[in-house]
Amino acid sequence: MSRVLAPLVRLPWRRIPLRPFLARRSYSTPSTKPVPQPKTDHPVVNRAPTTAVDIDYAQEYMGKPAPKGVKLMRGKMNVELEGRISMFKYMVLRDACKCNLCVDEHSKQRKFRSTDIPPLIAPRDIKWDGKKLQIQWRSDIEGWSPDHVSKYDVEALRDQGANPPRWHTGTARRRFLWDKWAMTANQHWVSYEDYMNDEKAFSRAMRYLALMGIIFVKDIPDSREMVEKIATRMGPLRNTFYGMTWDVRSVPQAKNVAYTNVSLGFHMDLMYMNEPPGFQLLHCLQNSCDGGESLFVDSFHVALNIRNKYPRYFEQLTRLLLNYEYNHKEHVYGNSWPVVEMEDGDPKKRIVHVNYSPPFQAPMISNDVHKNWSEYRRALKKFAVETERDRNVFQLKLNPGECVIFENRRVLHARNKFNTDQGQRWLAGAYVDEDAVLSTFRTSRDADPSVWYDSGFNKLTARQVELMKSTTSAEVTAENKGTE
Ligand SMILES: [Zn+2]
Repeated sequence: MSRVLAPLVRLPWRRIPLRPFLARRSYSTPSTKPVPQPKTDHPVVNRAPTTAVDIDYAQEYMGKPAPKGVKLMRGKMNVELEGRISMFKYMVLRDACKCNLCVDEHSKQRKFRSTDIPPLIAPRDIKWDGKKLQIQWRSDIEGWSPDHVSKYDVEALRDQGANPPRWHTGTARRRFLWDKWAMTANQHWVSYEDYMNDEKAFSRAMRYLALMGIIFVKDIPDSREMVEKIATRMGPLRNTFYGMTWDVRSVPQAKNVAYTNVSLGFHMDLMYMNEPPGFQLLHCLQNSCDGGESLFVDSFHVALNIRNKYPRYFEQLTRLLLNYEYNHKEHVYGNSWPVVEMEDGDPKKRIVHVNYSPPFQAPMISNDVHKNWSEYRRALKKFAVETERDRNVFQLKLNPGECVIFENRRVLHARNKFNTDQGQRWLAGAYVDEDAVLSTFRTSRDADPSVWYDSGFNKLTARQVELMKSTTSAEVTAENKGTE
């Protein structure tokens, strides 16, 4: 069986022409190799002297030559960091000190203000061995002991951003982009027991969630309380007007389209809120009706394919602001989001979020979009068509005792219509905010880096093979997929 399936499983890798390009942008497919270290944000400085008067600042500040790999200049220094020259301003380095004099050991709160650092601060002694940098200061912050030593390791020098873990476990982490086949072959299932009680299994689940944006929990006790337990393992519940947790059941005249038995097209939840939830859980308690399958699409994969093939459309999607609303008697919410939200708003950089939720769209008359609508429409239509393309849609019917966890602003979800004449359908849902889950990614990785970086893709379980067969035979088209 695996010999027959092997070419199919490999198909997505070959079919994604973005791969070499994406690899540089941290969207690459996973590999067993160590994660490549990111390039520093610090500008690369030319070794050539930039001033006509060649002052020896090492002698000026320290009265001795600088250590190998360090060049002192007025107000700043160059450090040779892993073969690259990086520039650091003395003020910024001083500001980054995390010693016990500067940062409280227990509360981790900083004991000085950035503005307390004298603007003319400079080193009086430097040690650098290629891995650790130590600096003692002349004209340090008032009140700081002359014994004060600032120490920095390579990692701190490389990424001094406000959120250093963003490369490995944060918003700039690597993503495994998937289509139907890649998801069918690589979906991650974890038992409730392991997820709750086995640290390694939980860490592995978080790693898959970080990479793929979706995982599944199985063998969950039959109880309405479980969705809260599963969610709070990742972070605090995100409360909304739907409640701390909520139910999707067939209810006549429901105000929210998710609460009816008609089909529901691809969407993301709560786009009308200021901070749409980062992660969503759906725990299946009953699903004996005909239909009611869940459908998922990796919107990052769709968007990046569009960037590759139709760069003009992609650029328009990064500019196209759509309005969303929840407009009822009790609650009125509204917000606008670009369809593809880029880092620094730059279409050449990294995707931060995709925002796409047609069922909750509001009129666009109030924003500038309508002026160029015919042009934007073509780009949005391309996104809609690619999203609903059979090869991008992963479909499964959740069974009682199973829960899907997915990244709400990456993985689009939809649902086939179901027949309530016979059988029952009941899902319990919950949300967890993005930063809470990113924090859990980081703590999981720190607790067990080996799990976080191990391989494990392309190993088909019996269930995955079964799913693969079922999704092959059932040709899902835009017509029957439930976007009527
Ligand atoms: Zn310090």
